[in-house]
Amino acid sequence: MVCSSCPRNCGIDRNKVTGFCGTTREYKLAKAYLHPYEEPMISGKRGSGTVFFSGCSLRCIFCQNHEISEGLQGTCISDDRLLEIFFELRDKGAENINLVTPTHYASFLPDVLRKAKANGLDIPIVYNSSGYEDVEALKGLEGLIDVYLPDLKYFRDIHAKEYSGVRNYFSTAKAAIAEMYRQTGPFILDERGIMVKGMIVRHLCLPSLALDSKLVLKHLYETYGDNIYMSIMNQYVPMHRAIGHEKLGTRLSASQYRSVVSYAASLGTRNCLIQDSESQSDSFTPDFDLHGVK
Ligand code: SF4
Repeated sequence: MVCSSCPRNCGIDRNKVTGFCGTTREYKLAKAYLHPYEEPMISGKRGSGTVFFSGCSLRCIFCQNHEISEGLQGTCISDDRLLEIFFELRDKGAENINLVTPTHYASFLPDVLRKAKANGLDIPIVYNSSGYEDVEALKGLEGLIDVYLPDLKYFRDIHAKEYSGVRNYFSTAKAAIAEMYRQTGPFILDERGIMVKGMIVRHLCLPSLALDSKLVLKHLYETYGDNIYMSIMNQYVPMHRAIGHEKLGTRLSASQYRSVVSYAASLGTRNCLIQDSESQSDSFTPDFDLHGVK
């Protein structure tokens, strides 16, 4: 079967070879644990049951998870083991199951998610991705994903090409996010403030791309208003191939971040999450030590 999980359309059989994403049909994981530092309505008090998939269909030069996205650290597990991991996280008190970078498994996940729900997994499933998604693959997840947590990284494709190695990022992510919203509708928080249905779109502010950030936020607010959350991230730290990079080799300035946040406020948004400057630390990147996987 030719892989159709992501818009790369490699045209290969994942049962036999790896594609651009670096993985075969087998699930490859690097960590599964209770993550305390996702957005408050995702981590809650108990932590988000985060499952880190190895491999990726993008090549972001600043990737904070590059050991697993490009370095492919991790171990292959069976579908049944993935199912067990979901229940282990639930039993540890996870607020949800948070699938991190699942895009390259999008066509395979419906099977395991259906089994999880049929076996009584009763916490929300969060799909946490780069936004670079295949709409048809997303349609196969309808009814199985409760909360979508995509990035919208760039507005102008020239930046997507330069920093993430992908053409047509904006039009692809825009269509994917529209499909995600079609599935979830406006967000719903439970009585403890945990998101049980809906969408949070993340945007990581990058040095010298303030205009791009504002165009992203404008698009989101004009399209979805206050029916979604926008998470404006201040945690950029030069990592991976961005270290020493002419434009991305520096931290985000406080004035640039303030200017983007002020712009979001000027749009009239009420559901906007922001981060303080202490989030600019690589200590927010977990160790990919296979914890919870084996
Ligand atoms: S998921 Fe991987 S193999 Fe499939 S189309 Fe995308 S990059 Fe290629």
